[in-house]
Amino acid sequence: MDLTGDLRRIVEGLRIERAPHRPFRVSVELFPPRTPEAKARFWPEVERLAGLRPHFFSVTCGAGGTGRDGTYPTVLEIRERTGLPVAAHLTCAAHGREEVDALARAYWEAGVRHIVALRGDPPKGSGPYVPRPDGYAYAADLVRGLRGIAPFEISVAGYPETHPEAPSRAFDIDNVRRKVEAGAVRVIGQYCFDTDTVLRYRDELVRAGVEVPFVPGIMPVHDFAKIRRFSEACRASIPDWLAELFTDLDPSLPVHGMVAAAVAAEQMSRLVAEGFDHLHLYALNRADLTLAACRLAGYRPPAAAATETSSGRSACAA
Ligand code: FAD
Repeated sequence: MDLTGDLRRIVEGLRIERAPHRPFRVSVELFPPRTPEAKARFWPEVERLAGLRPHFFSVTCGAGGTGRDGTYPTVLEIRERTGLPVAAHLTCAAHGREEVDALARAYWEAGVRHIVALRGDPPKGSGPYVPRPDGYAYAADLVRGLRGIAPFEISVAGYPETHPEAPSRAFDIDNVRRKVEAGAVRVIGQYCFDTDTVLRYRDELVRAGVEVPFVPGIMPVHDFAKIRRFSEACRASIPDWLAELFTDLDPSLPVHGMVAAAVAAEQMSRLVAEGFDHLHLYALNRADLTLAACRLAGYRPPAAAATETSSGRSACAA
């Protein structure tokens, strides 16, 4: 990719820290394409993202979390097409244990070793979450259940701005500690545009005794209006400086993407400078912004032979 003059000016304006370069890993989150048109667009984007040689791809599941409707086949097909490790998101809120366990076993039998274990949310408009009597109540319970099924590599979610339902910040941080105690080996962060908040969260996790890596989530702003709406729903805040940057910017114009790439890259560069060696990118099934942000932040894909799977094995041997 060539930097255009415009992009160079934006980058300089944001004072992206270019040196010293420190190597870091990325993982890339995707969602299963639903329609034939979305599927046709999906695979070329995945191929381009595979050029990053991410530490792993991860594939979300719907709030229902059955996996069969899209996540399961998408996980297997990405692995098949790219040869790269793929993690399956698995939620427990909407299903009984038997169903969740059966899906976990199906993943294990298909050779999927990495699960992102989540509670998930109740269907929209159904009121506050109430655990099912026959289900895993919270993600920590799901992690425990998965450990009983097979030696999965398990990642869990963390919220730099606190999960909206948590009774307190301290409770929410302790919840992460309990998920790790149950067997999670990595905490993947909800995106958060305020880097100071992300850094404080890391320190709080460490103080709470969370010893596994915290991997901050990076959300490249594909469409600011949509991100603002989505952020309201999951209570991720939009800083004033971000809103100002995107004011009056039409998302269909290239300059929107240039600004978005620069913003994501600036956050990535700062986090890497602060010692993070793994960042999780919410690619939203589109390659351009993620590729540009990685390039600007100084990311270099690992050599194919040296790539480790997220389970620690060589990708070539996997
Ligand atoms: P938990 O860790 O169980 O926590 C949920 C809430 O319950 C928190 O407020 C916590 O403090 C509280 N809590 C925990 N234990 C208890 C207890 N014993 N008693 C009372 N309260 C308790 N959603 C999807 O539907 N599909 C996806 O693929 C998906 N992927 C995600 C990936 C990432 C990286 C992130 C950050 C989120 C993702 N989500 C996904 C959203 C997630 O499902 C929701 O945010 C959900 O509301 C919480 O899930 P959790 O696993 O963090 O829950």
